[in-house]
Amino acid sequence: MNRFPVDLSSDTQTRPTPGMRQAIASAEVGDEQKREDPSVNRLQEMIADLTGKEAALFLPTGTMCNLIAHMIHCRPGDEIIIEASYHPVNFEGGGPAVHSRASLRLIESKTGIFTPEQVESCIRPNDPHFPRSKLVCVENTCNLRGGRVWPIHAIRAVAACARKNNLLLHLDGARLFNAVVASGTSAKAFCEPFDSCWVDLSKGLGCPIGGVLAGTRVFINEAWRLKHTCGGAMRQAGMMAAAGVYALEHNIERLAEDHAKAKKLARGLSEIPGVIVDVDAVESNIVIIDIAGSKRSRTEVFERLIPHGVRFSPLIQATQFRAVTHLDIPENGPDLAIAALRDAIN
Ligand SMILES: *Cc1c(COP(=O)(O)O)cnc(C)c1O
Repeated sequence: MNRFPVDLSSDTQTRPTPGMRQAIASAEVGDEQKREDPSVNRLQEMIADLTGKEAALFLPTGTMCNLIAHMIHCRPGDEIIIEASYHPVNFEGGGPAVHSRASLRLIESKTGIFTPEQVESCIRPNDPHFPRSKLVCVENTCNLRGGRVWPIHAIRAVAACARKNNLLLHLDGARLFNAVVASGTSAKAFCEPFDSCWVDLSKGLGCPIGGVLAGTRVFINEAWRLKHTCGGAMRQAGMMAAAGVYALEHNIERLAEDHAKAKKLARGLSEIPGVIVDVDAVESNIVIIDIAGSKRSRTEVFERLIPHGVRFSPLIQATQFRAVTHLDIPENGPDLAIAALRDAIN
């Protein structure tokens, strides 16, 4: 029994649906490493097709997608231009320092969306004193900035600036399909300016595990080598890839329901005295909740939500929570969470 019937702590908190379990149970499988797993091959072809790239590679996690892409694009001592809230900066155990050994040049922004001018200001002169500027990373949607969606024109402007300065471009598309559904821009259009991109299967798409990295054939051949190096090459991985295939066929359009629930949640929470939520900033499935105006501490509020079966996740800022909607949030989930927070902060 789930202790949190309304678990808004993350869109990773989904269980495979009966349909997905059926797809997993009946998956055709083979040896992935020999490229003989038909389900893995099918998933990779689907992602290559959806992103408009030559090839794709199934990996155990999104984190491995980022680290392999960084390793291919960068040599030790190179520099990655990346926004301060993005995943590799905060949640990959210092991965860039460990794996690609590239340094990070941070851009600060309120929304996670940055400008060509901000990229320009990070580019180093070609002088041996400095790290070599090499890669620009974009996260779409921007997780910690409340699920903001990069407008396609903003991506194209940053990409043009990167190209002009001989920089490579990588897209962290953990929630790319949330961006697609929220904006109406196709995945192909979003991915077109990037040398590499990836999609997470274990977030809003509802799979147990997995990410799929895409790029040119040459890039993906190199990624295969690093998949082995990192210990991410599997065997009958089609059991899990079949969940991915199922998700791409059934769980993309329905992300609109998650976005509607997030909006509803944001509106309701914003009406609670002591709670601040920027309703207009909610563009996809993430809501940032600030309880600075409450007399209770965040820890207290978190504890008091438990009996209601409601959970948010604490953010880096001491008075903030993040709430993320997903396919396991029931229809009345937003109403239950609003009532729960109203009670918990009192
Ligand atoms: C979750 C997430 C990742 C990492 O994906 P895992 O599959 O959890 O390793 C990377 N980037 C963003 C934006 C994410 O939300």
